[in-house]
Amino acid sequence: MTRESPVRIGLVYPDLLGTYGDRGNALVLVERCRRRGVEAEIVEVAAGEPLPDSLDVYLFGGGEDDAQVMAAAGMRASSAALDRARGGGAVVFAVCAGLQLLGTSYAAGDGDVLDGLGLVELETRAGEGRCIGEVVVEPDPSLRLRTLTGFENHGGRTRLGPGVGPLGRVTVGHGNGVPESDGATVDGVLADRLIGTYLHGPVLPRNPDLADLLLGWVLGTDALTPLGDTLVEELRAERLHEARLRGRRARRRDRRLTRG
Ligand code: GLN
Repeated sequence: MTRESPVRIGLVYPDLLGTYGDRGNALVLVERCRRRGVEAEIVEVAAGEPLPDSLDVYLFGGGEDDAQVMAAAGMRASSAALDRARGGGAVVFAVCAGLQLLGTSYAAGDGDVLDGLGLVELETRAGEGRCIGEVVVEPDPSLRLRTLTGFENHGGRTRLGPGVGPLGRVTVGHGNGVPESDGATVDGVLADRLIGTYLHGPVLPRNPDLADLLLGWVLGTDALTPLGDTLVEELRAERLHEARLRGRRARRRDRRLTRG
């Protein structure tokens, strides 16, 4: 694969948005490029610095509510740069607080309402209790990805606007945490070269084909050379097994509660 310049992976505000090792997502993207002979580098954008418009991927991680308030201000101040970058084909990948900030607003548990970037129509409100634990998501079939595995810890519940699609359907855990009309829940958001999700883990080391989907968007191919991912496959099998046991236990508990 030939490219004139290195793939530039933007790690946005790692000092604020990196609660569950979200830097790992950037490391995985760079490493999966390098193992294929494609030059890549991480460009860290520290909190308080403007976002450049020249990056290929913008990674927004998770964060506590206070950190999220600080991150939101910087993101809004850089929204024109992000729009230019997206207009040039840049990819956006956002996790948890990052996902919430891509939307129109986030109302925290204390009632404070935080304006997001409004890149996608979704809004988040603090719900009762936190959603914590392993999550399993069946991704939108158009993405042709395998089952996604991750970890969530958030209080926000995210409602997608009309016509806005999720990343996938939740089979274990909570994801966006808002039941659809059929009772199912969905996770994240899927738009043009943009994915948001509640999955931490960090999520890309646990889901290499999701990492390759993002890289494929950047490199303009859906046929990246496969890499030997034996250790990752072992981790995936172990995590999916554990999560499904947890899902079964939760369903049994819910049945007991509804029976009374
Ligand atoms: N502060 C947000 C919430 O609790 C996001 C948490 C996170 O990013 N893990 O909903």
